[in-house]
Amino acid sequence: MLTLTDQRFQAIEQNDATQDGAFYYGVTSTGIFCRPSCHSRLPQRDHLVLFETVEAALAAGFRPCKRCRPAGQVVSTAEWVTEINQIIMTHYQTKLDLNTLAMLAHGAPYYLHHVYQQQTGQTPMAHLKHVRLTQAQKLLVTTQIPVSEVALTCGFQSAAYFSTVFKQATQLTPRQYRQKNSHT
Ligand SMILES: [Zn+2]
Repeated sequence: MLTLTDQRFQAIEQNDATQDGAFYYGVTSTGIFCRPSCHSRLPQRDHLVLFETVEAALAAGFRPCKRCRPAGQVVSTAEWVTEINQIIMTHYQTKLDLNTLAMLAHGAPYYLHHVYQQQTGQTPMAHLKHVRLTQAQKLLVTTQIPVSEVALTCGFQSAAYFSTVFKQATQLTPRQYRQKNSHT
């Protein structure tokens, strides 16, 4: 075990990537260990245990952080894509963009975009748009919620933008789509 010097604590505090590989820190309250550069929340200083190697941290019973992956790619790419899809399903109603998505999925935006496209053949933003449109179609057909509200509920920033995107995808305006598909 390494001593937690002020210098090392500062490296953790400042997410200093130059210290990655020099040591790892475990957080006793969570049982997880990280690289110094990890952007997870700064732990309390007295909850920190430092290790020289990944093996030492694992041997002490700590699990690798999913975010900074100190033990390498512990999560497979396919698992990561599943995780990204789950995040999209949970957050499509919010102002989700690539940067926010990357933050929530614990990866760099460009890397996430690349991996996702490679695995699924579409970009994460295209998938997000698809989810938003599918949900909007459902709402249009199964509810009487005004179109402008459907737009906002499904994460579109304005009704006008929603109509444009919707028409591009379905060749119909949201209103036409509702008329055509409602059974009431
Ligand atoms: Zn971490």
